[in-house]
Amino acid sequence: MARNRTLQQWSVEDSAELYGIRNWGAGYFDVAQSGDVVVYPFGDNRGPAVSIPEIIRGMRERGYDMPVLLRIENILDSQITSLHQSFRKAIGSLGYKGEYRGIFPIKVNQQQQVVEKIAQFGSRYHHGLEVGSKAELIAAVSQLRDHEACLVCNGYKDEEFIDLGLHAVRMGYKCFFVLEMASELPLILERSKCLGVRPLIGVRAKLSVKAGGHWTDSGGERSTFGLTTAQIVDVVDQLKDHDMLDCFQLLHYHLGSQVPNIRDIRAAVMEACRIYGGLVAEGAAMGFLDLGGGLAVDYDGSHTNYVSSRNYSLDEYCADIIEAVMNILDEEGIAHPHIVTESGRATVAYYSMLLFNILDVSRVEIGNLPDILPDDCPEPVRNMREALAGLTLRNLQECYNDAVYYRDEVRQQFLTGRITLRERTLGERYFWAIMKRIAQEKQKLKHVPKDLAEIDVALADIYYGNFSVFQSLPDSWAIDQLFPVVPLHRLNELPSRQGILSDITCDSDGRIDHFIDPQGVKGTLDLHPLKDGEEYYLGVFLVGAYQETLGDLHNLLGDTNVVSVRVHEDGSYEFVRELRGDSVADILSYVEYDPRRIIDDIREAAEQAVREGRITPSDRYRVMQAYEDGLRGYTYFER
Ligand SMILES: *Cc1c(COP(=O)(O)O)cnc(C)c1O
Repeated sequence: MARNRTLQQWSVEDSAELYGIRNWGAGYFDVAQSGDVVVYPFGDNRGPAVSIPEIIRGMRERGYDMPVLLRIENILDSQITSLHQSFRKAIGSLGYKGEYRGIFPIKVNQQQQVVEKIAQFGSRYHHGLEVGSKAELIAAVSQLRDHEACLVCNGYKDEEFIDLGLHAVRMGYKCFFVLEMASELPLILERSKCLGVRPLIGVRAKLSVKAGGHWTDSGGERSTFGLTTAQIVDVVDQLKDHDMLDCFQLLHYHLGSQVPNIRDIRAAVMEACRIYGGLVAEGAAMGFLDLGGGLAVDYDGSHTNYVSSRNYSLDEYCADIIEAVMNILDEEGIAHPHIVTESGRATVAYYSMLLFNILDVSRVEIGNLPDILPDDCPEPVRNMREALAGLTLRNLQECYNDAVYYRDEVRQQFLTGRITLRERTLGERYFWAIMKRIAQEKQKLKHVPKDLAEIDVALADIYYGNFSVFQSLPDSWAIDQLFPVVPLHRLNELPSRQGILSDITCDSDGRIDHFIDPQGVKGTLDLHPLKDGEEYYLGVFLVGAYQETLGDLHNLLGDTNVVSVRVHEDGSYEFVRELRGDSVADILSYVEYDPRRIIDDIREAAEQAVREGRITPSDRYRVMQAYEDGLRGYTYFER
């Protein structure tokens, strides 16, 4: 097993295996002989490879502090391309008669530079956008130029939303209103009469199929959105009454995000096809079948139906969908519709990564234990020393139990004033000395009892990273989502430490202590000891989906710097877009402070200090300079 290698034997191959890079990296990430993590912007582990630490050096030279959200634009391009290529392959080989139309749901990453690039890279394939609110619709219309691409409006729609959509139709956009609620239809009919525009109408079906996974509550009969079959039939009747069945062109459903099991995906398509067939039989025009999102990302690289993985490849996903649609519709003698999917997560997850430096490490330090104990040494401390002396492979569990028992005794006696601060400290040191010995010895055991297995986590180093979980990895905090975390360099060195990560918010939830592992989840990450005077950089990968706008301003740590890189065929690259993260003044204004007022108020406090003789007028000048600089500065730790 790689972990038992010594320093000299350790190779980058061992690191690649340990961090699972080739499993989750999807052909975009790997380790170079230099020990750097590299990115293959064109995928398939082929073409030019760019070192991420080298990109970091370039950013630092340009004055960008960590943390930075790095986007590799080519990866977004490649992901959109492979989605369309896979569907085209399945359509071609199975002889399907419709086309594939992908759309990107803006809520997955609304950042302007992201949506702009999706519209640009997607224009080759008529890749469209999905919106769920007025703001998203306005953003989408501003970015999308392709009139063949679908623009799908989900979400609850008021009169203004409907008017915006109808104006988009008038400008030539293929803009569909998808009914989420039966009550939306009368308003759409009224507004389209008023504006003299024939709308494109779809319905969101509540399927009875429900998918397993973390984020899949949007599916199933109890989902909050969507129409039951009875309500869908009612829509048909209402449209018939208005002589508008030709406007009914799309059937939509959304099972939820990150569906790990291909069986659920297939079952849902089949149910939807039956509904689609029923609508055609009712005389609706139809022509589009929109399967929503759900295409999963293999975050842990295990290729299983575990929540952070998926048990299918992209090719299988596409082929299974096309095949299922053909099977059912051919049986019913119905023309093949265009297939729409709303893949958000899979489209953008790979192209962004969070980069940060480690500021400090704290270790469980035991120090030298005394040779002899003083005569008045308290009993439980003495007992722990004996337990340590008598520890063998055979009594590990017993020693563990004793240590926990005596440590509680020490704490108890400290609370009642019978044990001094120094005595308690000595007791704690013996306790950790026992834990360390147990941690060493237990490696020789075949089956490690649960109590003892957890010691590794308790003994783990804490690496303090220059980032905020709440701002940059909200799903890691809120729902324990796993993301691959990897040192970005030194991968030709043995990572000899076990650590967990803490961010710089002073919140005990601001930590990452679950890591991907081929055998499930692990509680510590293999890390390198820090070197004096040298930065140590980590990267959190696959963070392009959902992480950016769910983040919050915990401890007033703001948006990070964002740098987008485009790599050329010859391996050279350029910084195509740079966004400064929030300054302290930006953040304070988000919570309704006025930065100018702040300066006035602080100046007043400083002037008062001058009046009271605490500082001189020239001190006041320096104080004000420091505060003014502070307001302009980055909210994270600056070197
Ligand atoms: C969130 C959402 C999506 C995106 O799903 P992914 O699994 O991220 O691809 C697609 N469609 C609808 C209606 C959504 O609400």
